[in-house]
Amino acid sequence: MILVSGDTYTDNSYNGTAVIGHWLMENGFRVGIIAQPRTDVPDDITRLGMPELFWSVSSGCVDSMVANYTATNKFRKDDDFTPGGVNDRRPDRACIAYTNLIKKYAKGKPIILGGIEASLRRLAHYDYWSDSIRRSVLFDSKADAITYGMAELSNLRLAQCMRDGVDWKDTPGLCYASSQFPEGYLLLPSYEECRSDRSKYLDAFRTFYRNCDPITAKGLAQDNGGRFLIQNPPQRLLTSEELDGVYEMDFENAVHPYYLKDGKVKAMETVRNSITTHRGCYGECSFCAIAMHQGSTVVSRSEDSIIREVERMASDPHFNGIIQDVGGPTANMYGIECARKLKHGACQDKSCLGDSPCPSLHIDHGRQIALLKRIRAVPGVRKVFVNSGIRYDMILADRNGDDYLETLIRYHVSGQMKIAPEHVSRRVLRAMGKPGPDKLLEFKSDFDSCAERCGKDLFLTYYFIAAHPGCHDEDMQELSRFCHSKLRMNPEQVQIFTPTPSTVSTCMYCTGMDMDGKRIFSEHSVQRKRKQKEYVVRSGDARNRCLQSRVLEGRVPVRGVQCHPEAQDAHELLLPHRPRSHHHRADRLSPGRSRPGPQGPVLRDSRVVQREEVRSAGVFHEICDDRRLRRQEPSQVHPEVQEHNVHSAGQVQGSDGFDREAAGFRSGAAFGHRELVHLMGIQYGQVQVRAVQPDVPCDIDQPDIGFRGCARSRGGFRRVS
Ligand code: SF4
Repeated sequence: MILVSGDTYTDNSYNGTAVIGHWLMENGFRVGIIAQPRTDVPDDITRLGMPELFWSVSSGCVDSMVANYTATNKFRKDDDFTPGGVNDRRPDRACIAYTNLIKKYAKGKPIILGGIEASLRRLAHYDYWSDSIRRSVLFDSKADAITYGMAELSNLRLAQCMRDGVDWKDTPGLCYASSQFPEGYLLLPSYEECRSDRSKYLDAFRTFYRNCDPITAKGLAQDNGGRFLIQNPPQRLLTSEELDGVYEMDFENAVHPYYLKDGKVKAMETVRNSITTHRGCYGECSFCAIAMHQGSTVVSRSEDSIIREVERMASDPHFNGIIQDVGGPTANMYGIECARKLKHGACQDKSCLGDSPCPSLHIDHGRQIALLKRIRAVPGVRKVFVNSGIRYDMILADRNGDDYLETLIRYHVSGQMKIAPEHVSRRVLRAMGKPGPDKLLEFKSDFDSCAERCGKDLFLTYYFIAAHPGCHDEDMQELSRFCHSKLRMNPEQVQIFTPTPSTVSTCMYCTGMDMDGKRIFSEHSVQRKRKQKEYVVRSGDARNRCLQSRVLEGRVPVRGVQCHPEAQDAHELLLPHRPRSHHHRADRLSPGRSRPGPQGPVLRDSRVVQREEVRSAGVFHEICDDRRLRRQEPSQVHPEVQEHNVHSAGQVQGSDGFDREAAGFRSGAAFGHRELVHLMGIQYGQVQVRAVQPDVPCDIDQPDIGFRGCARSRGGFRRVS
């Protein structure tokens, strides 16, 4: 077989192409892999000659349209799966592009599509980027079949059948085209009906959604202009032992040297020292495709297998002692599954979690606590993080949830713990399939008191979604108020909803109906989607203007800040100088620094910048006053100021590897406070300090200086992607 992928080749268990390749080799087949072939010339695709059995084509770990475009349809310049990080190797609709490439230059053997793009586009589906219902990618690409889901067993059976010359079309987990309607299969509304009538598409999607469980699912068929797309029932789940075998295969855990010469592969850095503990997720968040791809049944690896992987990792001379992540789609589902589901399949009429967890789930984090303890005890392991998502409602539902939370806080979280409430408006949460805001507040309270009990200076960060189906402007306003009044923070992590193929949310977005057929609002205008986001995360200028006017109007309780009595507008603020308190939190966050932080010299010099720290809505704001500096160009900055700022810049560059030329500044230019402030998208004069929230990324766009954003952490400013 030759496997073709839209990602560069990294040999690890997080890369589906690597997993399938190793799996087939373990079972006696020879495998060649071509990663990110050029589609304009035959050189790459013909490099390995012809396969004996079949071509297997995948877009990579992400749908190529999701990888190439943002939710507002902008082209993404960066790609973590491409050497060098520039997004110039993966074509749009990669499955179609690679199949055409093979058919043009290396025709003759069957082409089998796989991976998440083919898997989620296997039936008629809504495509956000063309705003249309597209037919199965099998017909668009003219490939021979699709293996959907986690396809180790399907690929193996396919390979065995082809090798032995027997019919392979009854392979579970396979889609193929046929002129015959197979007996016992369910007939979905046809592609043409789905395209012309969105309620038919809803019917088709509902049937598709309810037939994903490996125990209960039936085969499906959908007519496409006289030919049926046949979807065989899913492949059975791997057993725990088989899963152990998959993750203990002989991966190099490195980028293939052929591709390394083109630069670093960022995705590899993230997963190099990470451990997968399980597959599947029963969270059923409407916007997420994991359950559709990996399944909604959690299969966990054995503890012994995980420990063996950790020991192998720790014996690597390059291992730095830090395990970046121990988790899966949802970290704390490890070892927790419903016995009824394992025997009879998932319930059709209720959710395992939803607004409150099903009692049949018997949530108990004991097995995870024991596993984490064993991992911490492996010689050579200094620190173990749990960075995969956490379902906090499961922690609340567990009698021993406090022990798990304490374990996380004591040993497995650094600085901040990320959780994903996604929203706080009940009607939006209902559409998302997420628990209500009361659970969030309950968890926050537990987290804060547990962190205090453990003597840890930790805080929560939150992911939210704007413009999800069911979300109106007033829901975002409610979210903004909730964040300020209840969570006491300014949210930074707000994403605009992306309608990815074959999710429940995408179906709602496309049809304007929820799964019960009731009408649901969806915001379709890009401008209004952005506006929804801006209710919560304002651009730098908007935030600055807002803060200025709120300070001026006395609406913000700003400790120690006064307006100049003759101030006419927000830009005329004058603030009294106060010596820096030894309680300054940024100081406490960086104890024992051998060098002062980037703000150090400026902070100490009251002649240059007078400033006060104010706490407003849970966030420190640093307000500076130096109109002379503010009104001058960087090159005209007073030499004394410039000197300080150059000093700051040196540290920023030195400690963070910040590249000011990449940010559009001339080489050797004074790279001062003012520029840093501009980089943050906030006018000089009032600076929102993120030092109190180390490592919180900032998503401010600065396209004019070619820089996507920066954040300030305890070590200074750092570049984020
Ligand atoms: S019984 Fe409850 S936990 Fe089990 S599958 Fe059904 S909804 Fe999920």
